[in-house]
Amino acid sequence: MENHEALEGAFDPRFQDPFAAADYLESIRWPDGPVCPHCGVLDTKHYLLKNKTRKLWKCRACRKQFTVTVGTIFEGSHIPLNKWLFAFFLLCSSKKGMSAHQLHRMLGLTYKSAWFMAHRIRYAMTQPAFARQLTGTVEADETYVGGKVRRSNRVKRAPLDPKLPDSRKQTGRGADKTPVVTLVERGGEVRSFRVANVTADELGGAIRRHVARDAHLRTDAFQSYAKVGKEYASHLTVDHNEVYVVGDAHTNTAENFFSILKRGIDGVYHHVSEAHLPRYLAEFDFRYNNLARDGVTDAERTRRALAMTEGKRLRYAD
Ligand SMILES: [Zn+2]
Repeated sequence: MENHEALEGAFDPRFQDPFAAADYLESIRWPDGPVCPHCGVLDTKHYLLKNKTRKLWKCRACRKQFTVTVGTIFEGSHIPLNKWLFAFFLLCSSKKGMSAHQLHRMLGLTYKSAWFMAHRIRYAMTQPAFARQLTGTVEADETYVGGKVRRSNRVKRAPLDPKLPDSRKQTGRGADKTPVVTLVERGGEVRSFRVANVTADELGGAIRRHVARDAHLRTDAFQSYAKVGKEYASHLTVDHNEVYVVGDAHTNTAENFFSILKRGIDGVYHHVSEAHLPRYLAEFDFRYNNLARDGVTDAERTRRALAMTEGKRLRYAD
């Protein structure tokens, strides 16, 4: 298969031409030649049919027709494959994400189509199952995202009292925001989850599921981490009221991730409903886990996201 060169940017032919886009997706999905999704036969001599709008194959074994989009998130979509690839590239190459409004303008699609498209891409970026637990030194931290502070609440809510042991209980629910816990391996992977609340049960549950017991846990002094912390190889906490960090007892990695997440959710997406939040988290986790600092270019990040489109059919009425 040809088309191995890295994506070049907005004028890449694969963003202009649905056949060039299909060639590229085929090189990712079928590195050894087309595989019939109906009978599973790999054959470099499947028949390529003449079709004006898309690259269509006919299986030499079972005689059925197929395209590279069968069994992927693209299947059944009326949007040309080159526009899909461009949308992937845009979401993979912008640090804080890209709004459906901007996608709609850049791709020449309706706003509704662009919105559904962006959500399918986030769905593709979602890790289907976590094959391993996080290890090494793992920071856990929680924050609140999405929603808006309701005007009524803004007036009624008392200012935060720094003398209270847990100022976090004074925010959150009343502010109409959703709590998110992030677990991040130093120098490794990040995983973010929407949680119902920030109790020891919820935060501890996420940590127990995703962090190996021989890991070294780093959190702040929030009481909800105290119990679960005892189950780990070590648990150091940072007191945010102190100016100096003692040794490696900090959660700076998680806080850096939160700053990108918040600039994206608040600055680009403006309003994210609680129901859709997990997919936005998957988008920010995906970009963080395929970072430029590790030598991952925008083109390579896009290729990795496209490789995750398989087996993820979504039914939307567009
Ligand atoms: Zn077949």
